[in-house]
Amino acid sequence: MEILNKEEQEVLKYVKEFAQKEVRPLARDIDRNMEVPQHLVDRMKSLGLFASYIPEKYGGAGLSFSFLVRVIEELSAACPSTALVLDGALTLFAEPLLMFGSESLKSRYLPKIAEGAIGGLAITEPGAGSDAASIKTSAVKKGDGFVINGTKTFISNGRTAKFFVFDAVTDPGKGSRGITTFVIDAGTEGFEISRDIHKMGIRGSSTVELVFRDAFVPAENIVGEINKGFKVIMETLDAGRVGIAAQAVGIAQCALDEATDYIKKRKQFGKPISDFQGIQFMLADLYTKLMAARLLTYEACKSWETHTDSVLLSSMAKLYASDAAMQITTDALQLFGGYGYTTDFDAERHMRDAKITQIYEGTNQIQRLIIAREILRRNQ
Ligand SMILES: Cc1cc2nc3c(=O)[nH]c(=O)nc-3n(C[C@H](O)[C@H](O)[C@H](O)COP(=O)(O)OP(=O)(O)OC[C@H]3O[C@@H](n4cnc5c(N)ncnc54)[C@H](O)[C@@H]3O)c2cc1C
Repeated sequence: MEILNKEEQEVLKYVKEFAQKEVRPLARDIDRNMEVPQHLVDRMKSLGLFASYIPEKYGGAGLSFSFLVRVIEELSAACPSTALVLDGALTLFAEPLLMFGSESLKSRYLPKIAEGAIGGLAITEPGAGSDAASIKTSAVKKGDGFVINGTKTFISNGRTAKFFVFDAVTDPGKGSRGITTFVIDAGTEGFEISRDIHKMGIRGSSTVELVFRDAFVPAENIVGEINKGFKVIMETLDAGRVGIAAQAVGIAQCALDEATDYIKKRKQFGKPISDFQGIQFMLADLYTKLMAARLLTYEACKSWETHTDSVLLSSMAKLYASDAAMQITTDALQLFGGYGYTTDFDAERHMRDAKITQIYEGTNQIQRLIIAREILRRNQ
């Protein structure tokens, strides 16, 4: 199944070639060195990947959300940390501006993203993860803006982002109805990185804790309307989750391709282990699961573009694809036997990388809650 038009399919061929020839050979080093090299980010800029999803009016190429999702899938099949640089800039930073931003915010920030500036989204706090409405970061009105105080944690693209979308409480005691979403530039006085967070997987992606100490943000940096920021965040995550589903599909595809090569070469009992039916059944189940994850991801992509059932489908895709990726990468490692458990092969990295897809942008427990809520709401 292909969800792109002919023109986008042609462009995607170059992306795939870039991912396989230039990114994949570096994936192991990116994991070890805990950094995506700048020259790869520059290549993504020069290939127009940052510009791809930005409308032409703001200096982009105006390609579809489906194209972006396919790019994330192809890059993740090479190196999910590299994919996350682009995913964060486009689905997490640019998307809320595209959906809710004022004309002035769009024309200030989107051309910079199109040129390759990196962005991020900062919503999680030490005391507010799954319960995103319980954030404590405060935004207090002062003159023509707001004074921000608080801490955001686990922020992807933290060291490299030039600006972040974040949320803060503007009307305490009102829960989700008292939250406003803003944009802040990295380097704003009183806004800084307080620590780097080291991780088991997607180690090339920078994850940080951010602190606001009386940081000033002008009122014109509000994304959408005051006290209506929770909706901005929730809709952003609807788009973001399709990106995470695509990341999971990419990781799983790579793990399975490598395992398939291996079982054809590895001999035991006098023949390739791929000759054993027990191994063949595993392979059949894993490819079937991968295809189901991919199809659900593409369906979620289309539903997001047409705004039909997108909450339900983006959560289903994220849930299914990430659980599938975890199972596929675990079983792919099993196919390598003891060698899979070593760092001589990439199977263990794929398993480490897959794990995050079950956690971020809403854990899979939270996806199940969303899915059940949507189903029950419809059947009232
Ligand atoms: C590598 C990484 C990158 C990240 N990037 C970003 C980012 O760029 N921006 C950002 O804002 N955040 C980011 N996050 C944060 C991420 O979205 C949160 O970690 C996630 O939403 C879970 O929140 P928590 O860690 O506080 O877990 P908790 O909410 O404390 O959950 C702990 C456990 O309880 C379960 N649980 C919680 N509530 C319920 C419930 N009602 N029913 C059943 N089970 C429940 C959870 O599923 C989980 O298993 C990132 C996290 C990581 C690890």
